[in-house]
Amino acid sequence: MKHEYADCSFCGGKVIEKKVKVDYRIGENLTIFENVPAGVCRQCGEKYFTAQVAKALEQMARDKSFVDKIISVPVKSFPLKRSQSPITLKG
Ligand SMILES: [Zn+2]
Repeated sequence: MKHEYADCSFCGGKVIEKKVKVDYRIGENLTIFENVPAGVCRQCGEKYFTAQVAKALEQMARDKSFVDKIISVPVKSFPLKRSQSPITLKG
């Protein structure tokens, strides 16, 4: 059954259902979900979840008893601290 999503509350664009990848963070714990049904704005890409999906994501993120796979993720601080040529905005 497909959920009907309201128009985007940011830009008013049409929101269509897609399977998306979600980076879900609770505190320091990041969980990545794949194939999550969500409404995605065709104009700005904003994602919307139904209440059931949002609740399921939270429960699954807190449940440490099952994991499909573990990946390592590079973490970088912004701005870069290494010396590099400064970015100029002049052409
Ligand atoms: Zn939008």
